[in-house]
Amino acid sequence: MQLTKVIIIFITLLLSVSHKAGAEQVSLQKQQVMTLHQVSTEKQLFSEPWSFYQKLLASQKQFPELANEEKLWLLVRRAQCENLLYFYDKFADTTQELKALVNDNTNIIVQAYLAYYQGVIKQRDGDYQGSRVYFKQTMALTKQVDRHLYVTAKLELAYTHSLSELFDTSLADMQEAYIEAFALNDNFLIATINETYGAIYGYMRQNEKSLEYYQKALDSYEKLGYKAHIAEAIYGIATTYRYWKKYDLAVENFKLYQKKITYTPNTNIIYFASYGLGMTLAEQGNCHAALVEIERAFIHDGLDDFDAELYKRKASCLIQLQRLDEAEQALNNARALFQKIPELLGTAWHLEVDKIAGKLAYAKQDYQVAYQLLATYYQKYTDILIENSSARVASIRASMEIERQEVEQALSKQRIRAEKLAFKTQEQETLQHRYFIIFLLILLLIVFAIVVYQHRTNRKIFELSIVDSLSGLYNRRYIFEHLDKQISRTSADKGTLSIILFDIDDFKRINDCYGHPSGDLVIEQIAKITIETLRTEDVSGRIGGEEFLAILPRTDLEQGEIIAERLRENINNHQFMTEDGHRMSISASFGVAQLTLELNDSKSFYAVVDEALYLAKAQGKNCVMSARNNIN
Ligand code: GH3
Ligand code: MG
Ligand code: MG
Repeated sequence: MQLTKVIIIFITLLLSVSHKAGAEQVSLQKQQVMTLHQVSTEKQLFSEPWSFYQKLLASQKQFPELANEEKLWLLVRRAQCENLLYFYDKFADTTQELKALVNDNTNIIVQAYLAYYQGVIKQRDGDYQGSRVYFKQTMALTKQVDRHLYVTAKLELAYTHSLSELFDTSLADMQEAYIEAFALNDNFLIATINETYGAIYGYMRQNEKSLEYYQKALDSYEKLGYKAHIAEAIYGIATTYRYWKKYDLAVENFKLYQKKITYTPNTNIIYFASYGLGMTLAEQGNCHAALVEIERAFIHDGLDDFDAELYKRKASCLIQLQRLDEAEQALNNARALFQKIPELLGTAWHLEVDKIAGKLAYAKQDYQVAYQLLATYYQKYTDILIENSSARVASIRASMEIERQEVEQALSKQRIRAEKLAFKTQEQETLQHRYFIIFLLILLLIVFAIVVYQHRTNRKIFELSIVDSLSGLYNRRYIFEHLDKQISRTSADKGTLSIILFDIDDFKRINDCYGHPSGDLVIEQIAKITIETLRTEDVSGRIGGEEFLAILPRTDLEQGEIIAERLRENINNHQFMTEDGHRMSISASFGVAQLTLELNDSKSFYAVVDEALYLAKAQGKNCVMSARNNIN
């Protein structure tokens, strides 16, 4: 019983330990509790920016009670949401709020986020130089500590360069960012880089390439389920179609974008949809519809550089509709906006104002002015084209593309190697797990063996405590305890029980003649004969020097006498051996008694049988005497 219990406990223990070892990985993944500074937070934020923003606003109430670090992260994430949700003013306000709390002792990553946000704001304001300073600052802060943010900043830096038509610098930055993101195996970052490539190639009017990159980005975002990013990529695709003059596809994609932006209830976002549609319709020559969309865009807060583009298109359309004064006004508005963004001066975006002004002059039949404006425009535009598509830029671009592919291949190989290594590690872990189980099993076996050994030892000790070492029969204490039990059992069952008491005759003489060890040999042999003669259910023991008691259950006096007689004969007929090889015959005297109602304990029962034995001795030994006469 004890043994089974121990084994069951051990097996339970073993199972629970091995189960734990297997379940650890699972439970470890569940443990990733969301806190604002964790990378996992960003994933949630990107997936559901609106609901995440609501949660952040709800927790704003606890703001005064928060620790400084927590306050900072709350602002960092809030700004991040506002940026994704196109709440540009709120984003700027939150950034200011964050700035007020940040100092040189602030967590570097928070400092880096602040610099990054400031860069984004500057970029949106058209201060490209200012934004580049902040992006570079972000990169300096994160270089050692946060490669993800580092690459993101580098990417923005590249994009800003492309806005100022610094395409080769931009592509060089992109190149580095791409390699880094690929090495980090960061799919989101690779997708944002692809999106930026899409934008830059779009500006460079490499439409097919632009679409290819945007599509790659879109696929990744869809896999990640990042709604704002999905909308952005579709917007990029629409814009490239617009540049490519595939207006129907552009309109189709801008409309798809309109559907995708419902993830945010912010109406300001309509600006971008109307901008895209307005620009497309205008370029398509669908001026009535274009003007409606352009006006719809102006209702909402937009960006200065985008507004400038809208005014240019508006002017073109108004010229087409012969509303020349309004066209002049629109053109002036565009010109004023370009003055606010010095870095755009001299770019193709800006030059186009002169082109439209030339058309306006032409419409006003002011041919001299028109000629001059258009001539200057074409001259400057050709210069830009030459600059941007010169053999140098083209070769840089081509070599970069090749280099990037090579790096990509090399990194792919490296990654495969890393995956193989990871697989090996996994295998090793499985092996370790297996060894662990084997170890536990061995441990179980050892414990099992110990328990069995202990059990056997205990049994041996128990046997030793009840067995007579010389004869191998039960000892006096045990045989009398057993007799007591048999008496009560027989009385209860109203059964029969007999006992035989026998004593070796003249044993002293044997000792005297052949020595004590020979006497011992005789005792051993007598015990053997006794066991062989008696039935299996009979129990016998040595109760004194050469005196034996046998207990015979379900045996009446008559049967007892027969058994005693048989035993007497067997002893008497046996050739006993002394230590030095002498043969001799021995006899024993027997007393037999049957249990009766009056005899209810071993002592009185024994007294009766002892008397019978005494009689046998008195009768001349080597005989059986029963207590029949005495009892009856
Ligand atoms: P009786 O026929 O009347 O029984 O005579 P006996 O000699 O057998 O009886 P007695 O009681 O005079 O002597 C018993 C002897 O048995 C005395 C003792 O030395 C010897 N003896 C008792 N225990 C052992 C034992 O374990 N080994 C040996 N060798 N002798 C023992
Ligand atoms: Mg004797
Ligand atoms: Mg004796």
